[in-house]
Amino acid sequence: MAFDIVIIGAGPAGLCFARSMAGSGLRIALVERQQEAALMAPADDGREIAITHNSQRLMRELGLWSRLREDEIGTLRDAMVLDGDDRGGLMFRHDEAGKSQLGWLLSNHAIRRAAYAEVMELPEVERITGARVSSVRTARDGADVELSSGEILRAKLVVAADSRFSETRRAMGIAAGMHDFGKTMLVLRMQHEVAHEQVAWEWFGVGQTLALLPLHDPHTSSVVLTLRPQAMQAMLALDDAALEAAMAERFQQRLGAMRVAGPRCAYPLVGVYAKRFVAERFAMIGDAAVGMHPVTAHGFNFGLLGQATLARELRAAVAAGRSISSPGLLRRYERQHRLATRPLYLATQMLAGLYTDDRPPARVLRKLALSAGARLGPFKRLVVAGLTANSAGVPGLFRSGHSA
Ligand SMILES: Cc1cc2nc3c(=O)[nH]c(=O)nc-3n(C[C@H](O)[C@H](O)[C@H](O)COP(=O)(O)OP(=O)(O)OC[C@H]3O[C@@H](n4cnc5c(N)ncnc54)[C@H](O)[C@@H]3O)c2cc1C
Repeated sequence: MAFDIVIIGAGPAGLCFARSMAGSGLRIALVERQQEAALMAPADDGREIAITHNSQRLMRELGLWSRLREDEIGTLRDAMVLDGDDRGGLMFRHDEAGKSQLGWLLSNHAIRRAAYAEVMELPEVERITGARVSSVRTARDGADVELSSGEILRAKLVVAADSRFSETRRAMGIAAGMHDFGKTMLVLRMQHEVAHEQVAWEWFGVGQTLALLPLHDPHTSSVVLTLRPQAMQAMLALDDAALEAAMAERFQQRLGAMRVAGPRCAYPLVGVYAKRFVAERFAMIGDAAVGMHPVTAHGFNFGLLGQATLARELRAAVAAGRSISSPGLLRRYERQHRLATRPLYLATQMLAGLYTDDRPPARVLRKLALSAGARLGPFKRLVVAGLTANSAGVPGLFRSGHSA
């Protein structure tokens, strides 16, 4: 079977890329190991994704936004960073950027559902679901993607979007820098007595990091707790009533009584940055290229940005009658996406380290950083401008906790 592009992985990045190529005249295969039913109605994986203004614009252009129900869209009006027992914290306010809000919060499964529904309507995309890629070979004259069924898909270009633990990246012999933070992150939707007022919290405590992500309902948020794996196991072993009491305690009762309102989903925290994003007739997008620590909420925002960059290069090549797999094109994509992501990847790693290190020097340093941030108007304005940039600028600084 011959295609122009074979995309491996129908996660948010692979789906958005397939949608971005609609109407380009290229024939595309999209290979995904999950079954079609699971892709049409994805299971709730607990993740609430903070969306920047630039990502919202891209999602509108791709038709995803109009597929979301109103009650699936949370408003991220302001954000607050707390350290230890602080009552006040450092506020990041929407009005400092002249915007009505800093960003939005969407469930990952709602994004996936909307993206899959869009792709299902594209005649040029052949969906090959319930299929696993067993090998990938690329050469000067073409690329072969072999499925575990033995079927071989021939393509001019292979695009891997198969997660931060990408098997395709490994099969292509591309190295990646990986950092295991040695922590586990629990994400859990909860109802709480005190209204969230559309303010997200990031709270760095001793032995834990907490985040609160405001959802559509004023009394429902996504609670994000990061702990060492052993401590997390103990939390996960609690029944609902005990977990609710433990969470209220961790939030120092600031939200009043809390009730479990969604599944408990735990994720190991591993940051990944591929040494190269491209090879002969091959490119990586999404987490396969850049797998961020969630603390700064860049993962999906970067995935959207990267797929848009690659799609733009490919569409320009088609329009000019040039090859879609030329080394020059692939290098341009790599250069642009590295420039857009590398500084923030490194800053996030540093931030995650500083804010989750409980040794006294780190605690002093972060107190200083926060109080300096509170005093320095220009610093805060810079952060807020990053969150609310309409162009491909810096996506949000803010997001769910990590740590301990
Ligand atoms: C707790 C948490 C909170 C987060 N919060 C935010 C946030 O606030 N903002 C933000 O921007 N990002 C956030 N992220 C990151 C975001 O969720 C990811 O960046 C995004 O989901 C990655 O999408 P992807 O398509 O690259 O990969 P994935 O979602 O991992 O999808 C990969 C797909 O490839 C398929 N696949 C894998 N291997 C194969 C194979 N061999 N053959 C066929 N198919 C294969 C898989 O089944 C899967 O469907 C968060 C992540 C976590 C864990």
